[in-house]
Amino acid sequence: MTDDLDLAVLLLNSVDLLEDPPDRMAHDLVWWRRALERNGHPELAAAQRDDDLPMLQSLRATIRTIFECVDADEARAVLNVALLYAEAVVQVGPDGLTVSGDLRARLLFAVALHAAEHGVGRLGICASDPCRCAYVDRTRAGTRRYCCTLCNDRAAARAYRRRRSETGS
Ligand SMILES: [Zn+2]
Repeated sequence: MTDDLDLAVLLLNSVDLLEDPPDRMAHDLVWWRRALERNGHPELAAAQRDDDLPMLQSLRATIRTIFECVDADEARAVLNVALLYAEAVVQVGPDGLTVSGDLRARLLFAVALHAAEHGVGRLGICASDPCRCAYVDRTRAGTRRYCCTLCNDRAAARAYRRRRSETGS
């Protein structure tokens, strides 16, 4: 079971430049429903309507902008406008803040909450070219740069080859 922030990352990574075609949500919600099911959200998967596709695509673009932002003020401004449009209603419950509303409100709220608590620097885009997948940096030191172990290993192998060719050995 993944939380709403993980779902936001999942939505972002419906575009994966290493897949063919890269955008698995260009035409329909087949991939998205399956991804929700795989991640322990069968009810949410069943609740997705085909009409939601344009909303999800625009939500994806908005959240990606926030993950790509290096400027915290800019990220906050984008988030605040998006939260207004999503009509996210935040309430205080026994376990902290909760948001009521549709998926758009939930995911934006999860991103906003994390950005407010840990800074937007913890929301990143994979540095392993050509991958542009998103990740949440949950390391203590905030040193994560890649979306997955595969990208990490690929980047390390590239750096190793580069060093070898530079030294001519
Ligand atoms: Zn990656």
